[in-house]
Amino acid sequence: MRRVSNTILRQEVDASAGIRALFEQAIRFKSEGKNPIDLSIGSPSIPPPTGYYEALIQIAATLRDEQGNNPHGYMPNAGYLHVRGMVANYLSKHFNVQFDARGIVMTAGATNGLDIVIGNLIGTRNPGAEIILIAPYFPAYIGIVKANFGKPVIVYSGEDFSLPFEGIESAITPNTAAIIINSPNNPSARVYTAGELRTLSDILARKSEEISRAIVCIEDAPYSRILFPGHEYSSMLRFYPNTAHIDSLSKQLGIAGERIGFAALPCQFGADADDRQIFINGLTNRMIETVVNAPALQQRIIGELGLESCVPVEEYVARVQRLTESLRRAGMHYAEPQGGFFVFAEIPEQFCDEAEFRAWAWSGNEPLLYVPGVAFGSEYSGWIRLSGAASTETINCAGERLLELNQ
Ligand code: PLP
Repeated sequence: MRRVSNTILRQEVDASAGIRALFEQAIRFKSEGKNPIDLSIGSPSIPPPTGYYEALIQIAATLRDEQGNNPHGYMPNAGYLHVRGMVANYLSKHFNVQFDARGIVMTAGATNGLDIVIGNLIGTRNPGAEIILIAPYFPAYIGIVKANFGKPVIVYSGEDFSLPFEGIESAITPNTAAIIINSPNNPSARVYTAGELRTLSDILARKSEEISRAIVCIEDAPYSRILFPGHEYSSMLRFYPNTAHIDSLSKQLGIAGERIGFAALPCQFGADADDRQIFINGLTNRMIETVVNAPALQQRIIGELGLESCVPVEEYVARVQRLTESLRRAGMHYAEPQGGFFVFAEIPEQFCDEAEFRAWAWSGNEPLLYVPGVAFGSEYSGWIRLSGAASTETINCAGERLLELNQ
């Protein structure tokens, strides 16, 4: 029989096997009668605010009443104009930077937003263009950049997970198309300060002139509402006009499976109005080639609900704090979380490597699952990521397991 797969497909599948294996491992543990404590994935466990369901019910009733003229037809690929208008107004007020509805593309979550912006910058017209990623990075960036024929260029953060300015500056070449920043960061939980972003903006502006090419800053911000006391979200939009702001309602409303988010380009994006419009049209074309449009029902709900609505952030903060308290009592070191769902912790010294730590974590009737640090950059082999998005009960069980380290 002729094979349907080839070597490249096999390599791609093998490269993504690590994280998929964790899903499968949790299922295997359950089938063995064990009770896995799963802190591996960041699936939001807090349900949406009641306003979300009120909007859903109201919209369902309106749609049923409209059945005479079918409200379920095709729509503009960038999404419903009234929803994009709402998003533009919200962003303009929130960031004090001008947006218009044209510069907003409703997407199937942040992943789709990242994909269309990166596709616009690279694609078949510009293969091999470089996208700078700051490690530790969200692992999907690598796949999205490669799927769009680009080259990920990895720069490691400073010890405190701050932006590595020197590394960024020396990584920029005439092929650099963009840099992706993610704050609050998955996995380090670091929130970049306004001062850091201003410095980054100065570097990008200077380097864009030097290489005669506008370097775009892709700001991936799905955790921007999940902030710990004393930390506030700062955006590159304030400092750098060529910022593509990507956001998602996955975490803010706890609706990751519903796939809704947006890509937003401020009015100042690009060299002039024509340059910006070409970029926007490119994004729309990429929507046609990918998901055609973001889920219609979710767009309508967001249009009704607005963007202020959010799950109770203090609950996530309490869960992450409970987790860090357990790590502290177990004698483990971790990056102090400033925002988002995750805790990035160092493997305790008594284990010689992650395999040895995993042998301990997966032992017994309550195996503990986490994501190994290497998933976020090869230099993090001594680290693990634990998710505070799990239920309080799961986090308490994890705490009890971790305390065994002291015994
Ligand atoms: N970016 C980061 C940093 C994430 O952690 C995630 C999801 O975990 C995403 C993007 C994808 O979000 P979405 O569900 O909106 O596609």
